[in-house]
Amino acid sequence: MERRDFFKGTFAAGLLGVPQVPAQAASGADIVIERAVSGTPHSGKVLALITPHLDDGPFFAAGTVAKLLREGYTGYFIRTSNDEKDSYDLTLGETVLGNERDARAFLQASGLKQVFDLGYRNHRMDDLARTEIRARLIFLFRLLKVDTIFSYDPWGHYEENPDHYVTAQAVEAACWMSGGHLDMPEHFAAGLKPHSVSEKFYFARGPQLVNRVVDIGPTFETKLACLRTCRTMMNHMIKDLNASLAERKLRVPALAGAGDAAIDEFVKVALETSGRAAGQKYGLEYAEAFHYIGPDRSMEEYITRHAVPL
Ligand SMILES: [Zn+2]
Repeated sequence: MERRDFFKGTFAAGLLGVPQVPAQAASGADIVIERAVSGTPHSGKVLALITPHLDDGPFFAAGTVAKLLREGYTGYFIRTSNDEKDSYDLTLGETVLGNERDARAFLQASGLKQVFDLGYRNHRMDDLARTEIRARLIFLFRLLKVDTIFSYDPWGHYEENPDHYVTAQAVEAACWMSGGHLDMPEHFAAGLKPHSVSEKFYFARGPQLVNRVVDIGPTFETKLACLRTCRTMMNHMIKDLNASLAERKLRVPALAGAGDAAIDEFVKVALETSGRAAGQKYGLEYAEAFHYIGPDRSMEEYITRHAVPL
C-alpha cells in the first residue's frame, strides 16, 4: 500500500475538523467483509458500546451496532467520561448536562437499551487508576452478560486523547478477566458469575490493522440519526469550523448558525465522507472498519474429533 493512500482518508476528514477515519488494512491481512443477514441469528446475545465520549460510537461504530441490534442482539452503552469539555460556549456544568441529555437522545436513536455513565472527568482519564475502571467494567460485563464489545483499539497508533487509550486498555483487560473465578470473587457472593467477552470490534482514529469491514449501507440512516443527537458536540464542531473559516475570510452558508439544518448538513457530509472512505476499497457505498477479535476456536478440531456426550 502506498503511503499517500494510507493517509488519504485522514486528510479528507481532517478538512472538516471531524475525527479521522480508520486507516486502510495493512497489506496481506485477511479481511472479512460482513454484510446484513436475514432473521435474528444473534438473538440472546448482548453487546456493549464502551467509549469515553458520546460521539465516538456514532462516528465509528453506530452503523454496525445498528446492524447487530437488527439481527437480534440486545445492546448497552457505557460512557466512561462525563464529556465536560465538549461544547463551544457553555460552562463546565452546562456542558455535562447538555451531553447527558444528548446521551439519552442517542439511546433512543440507536436502539441501545440502557446507558451507564461512569462519570470520569473528561480529558483527565490518564490520571486514574486503570484497575478501578477495569473493576467497574468487569462488574458490568458479568451483570449484563456481555458477549461482544465495541471500543477504541487499545493498540491504535498516534492516538492523542488519553480518554480514548485509557478506556481502551481497561476494556481490553476487563474482557478476559471478567471470566476469572479469582478476580473480584465478592461479585459471586452477590449472585454474579464469571463471564468472558468473546468478540471485540476495535475502531481507531489513526493507522490500524483492519481485518473486518462491515457494510453499513442498510443502517446508514440510523448512523446519521445517532450523530445528530449529539447536539452539544456537533454545535462545538460546527462553530469551531465556522471560526476557522472566518479566519480565512470564508463561510459555508449551509453551516451558518447552529440549528438543526446546520447539524443535519454537517453530520451528513462528515459521515458520508468517512463512510465512503472506509467502503470504497471493498465495493461498498458506506462501511465501518474494525480490528476484530473473535472467540478462540483453536481447540475446535480436537473437540470435534474427541468429544463425547456427557
Ligand atoms: Zn472521543
